[in-house]
Amino acid sequence: MAHFDLVIIGGGPAGLTAGLYAARANMNAILFEAKGLGGEILNTDLIEDWPGEESITGRALSDKMAAHAQKFGLKVEIKAVDKIRTDGDKKIIRMTDGTEHSAYAVIVTVGGEPIKLGVPGEQEFHGRGVSYCAVCDGAFFKGVDLAVIGGGDSAFQEGLFLTRFAKKLYVVHRRGEFKAQAILQDRLLAMDKVETITPAVVKEIGGNGDVNWMDVERGGRVERIPVEGVFIFIGFKPLGRELFEDHIEHDGNGYLVTDQFMRTNIPGVYAAGDARAQLAKQITTAVGDATTAVLHAERYIEDLKHAEKAFPRAEPRVVAEEAERVRTLRFMPGQVVIREGDDADRFFIVLHGQFAVTRRTGAGETELKTIGPGEHFGEIGLLKGIKRVATVRAKTDGELLVMGRKSFRRIVESSSTARAEIEAEADARLREVGV
Ligand code: NAP
Repeated sequence: MAHFDLVIIGGGPAGLTAGLYAARANMNAILFEAKGLGGEILNTDLIEDWPGEESITGRALSDKMAAHAQKFGLKVEIKAVDKIRTDGDKKIIRMTDGTEHSAYAVIVTVGGEPIKLGVPGEQEFHGRGVSYCAVCDGAFFKGVDLAVIGGGDSAFQEGLFLTRFAKKLYVVHRRGEFKAQAILQDRLLAMDKVETITPAVVKEIGGNGDVNWMDVERGGRVERIPVEGVFIFIGFKPLGRELFEDHIEHDGNGYLVTDQFMRTNIPGVYAAGDARAQLAKQITTAVGDATTAVLHAERYIEDLKHAEKAFPRAEPRVVAEEAERVRTLRFMPGQVVIREGDDADRFFIVLHGQFAVTRRTGAGETELKTIGPGEHFGEIGLLKGIKRVATVRAKTDGELLVMGRKSFRRIVESSSTARAEIEAEADARLREVGV
């Protein structure tokens, strides 16, 4: 089993963005993609809402994104993930070929798959006139009558692409109004070869070997419309949730629920892009969310490693859960972190810089020692229920990982050896300071 700090699942814009940042940060990371890099945008002909590119094909943009991330060293494997489970502080990623990998953090950017109409003939004629991707299949339908089903951006965007090939294009939608962006509606509906059939529902798709017709019900009457291709764009079913053995929070439609840092309810698991519950499924939002996710994941992995070093005998699952709750604080030289005599409510791990530990004496203050990266302090007050026995002050610019009383207690109490070890350490320190 190979271990990575970070595993990114899905190679669309969100996954490639997370991968780009991970590679540039030199993280021990890998991206798994089941099919080909690019994701959903490979199914889009023209993209005109990606800033900086007035108009670019989905293929060209995905190629650029993939090349960019890989140029900075992103490791990619074209392999499908089957299931993810939590084991202590790690996520175990089982692939469909049976191999397993582990990671401290996972970013899920798997998007989803097209929703099916669920009418007779749809499944039977899939690949023989029924399609969910105009860019992939449109060119097979030159000079014939086609239909797009749906009233959203996808139906209109893909419909526009199909007008290159179609003799006539029907737009079938279940309501009288479309929800596609105005600019897409204006462009498509202005074309002579485009005819709308609304409000109407497809009842059946049929033909003789290949699709020749669809039955559409409008105003209580069923009409048979001759078409050779039916392109269905009625939305999208997110796939992320199905990857998890443990419960992962999702909304009523199956989209993964995250906080503002793209964290799901499973510590160390993030979601970005179309797999995530959000307002808009855009490339711009997907890459933004992925950036937030990977920056937070990087922080989380570092925090987790520091916490595990401070509590080597604690239960790893508990440390991983509490690592999500720690904060980092910066200090300038001379700034006091804790003061002798104050109430104790937090525990600290030094990330960077030097900190002086001092105690009041008759003559003033005596420096007992200097502590640096990897060392910790603050446990005496929390364990013994007494006031701070020393003052800790930054000697240089410094950064501390700060853990609240509740997190500290959960970690310490997660195993008896962890508790015994930290208590022995606290007793030794008390002797050192002469209390
Ligand atoms: P969508 O916005 O959810 O639209 C789905 C359409 O299909 C709706 O018009 C809906 O009707 C209809 N529909 C849903 N279930 C149906 C059923 N069972 N039978 C018949 N019709 C049904 O999905 P989308 O168009 O795939 O877009 C998904 C997301 O990607 C959206 O956020 C969209 O903005 C984004 N997107 C953006 C672009 C772009 O150019 N920026 C391009 C493509 C997609 P109702 O209207 O009655 O609900």
